[in-house]
Amino acid sequence: MALEHLMANSPVAESARPPAIALPADGSPLGAVSVNTGTCTLCLACVGACPAGALQDNADERPELRFIEKNCVQCGLCAQTCPEGAIKLEPRLLLSPERKQPKVLNAAQPYVCVRCGKPFGTLQAIEAMLSRLSGHAMFQGAAAERLKMCADCRVIDIYRGTNELGIEDVPDGKNLRGLR
Ligand code: SF4
Ligand code: SF4
Repeated sequence: MALEHLMANSPVAESARPPAIALPADGSPLGAVSVNTGTCTLCLACVGACPAGALQDNADERPELRFIEKNCVQCGLCAQTCPEGAIKLEPRLLLSPERKQPKVLNAAQPYVCVRCGKPFGTLQAIEAMLSRLSGHAMFQGAAAERLKMCADCRVIDIYRGTNELGIEDVPDGKNLRGLR
């Protein structure tokens, strides 16, 4: 509020001001963050780590990482949390009104569940997971196909699978399909 007041009452015209003032890296209470879109997988771990509501996801179905600069206190928790090391802090005071507006730092195409059509995760993240697990013995056939399903459909598919142990098979131990 103090910064807003000072900016609104500055004798220097807005057009004559620099767009931003760089601040010292050590202990700066204000600033931006930048994200390497080549390595960011949009896991959104940084959104959960941010204590100031500066990093946010998109409430709609399109996966997005958004940033509101006026909220950022440069604590660095997002950079420490990011598993890809994709976040860099930029200590500064942004003087333009954009400091209050959400900015999209990264966005991706959603991945659509092959069973129900509901979007979940990102195309990039799911395809990377499918590629990494393609040679794993536990994720072949139907199990590999389940990786392409949302969380709800995975459970339904396991329960309905003809080669899987159903909950009704367990109590008396007399009908354990495939184990006898
Ligand atoms: S910046 Fe890092 S923590 Fe944040 S969404 Fe991207 S990969 Fe995940
Ligand atoms: S530096 Fe701190 S306040 Fe700023 S975006 Fe990262 S976690 Fe949020």
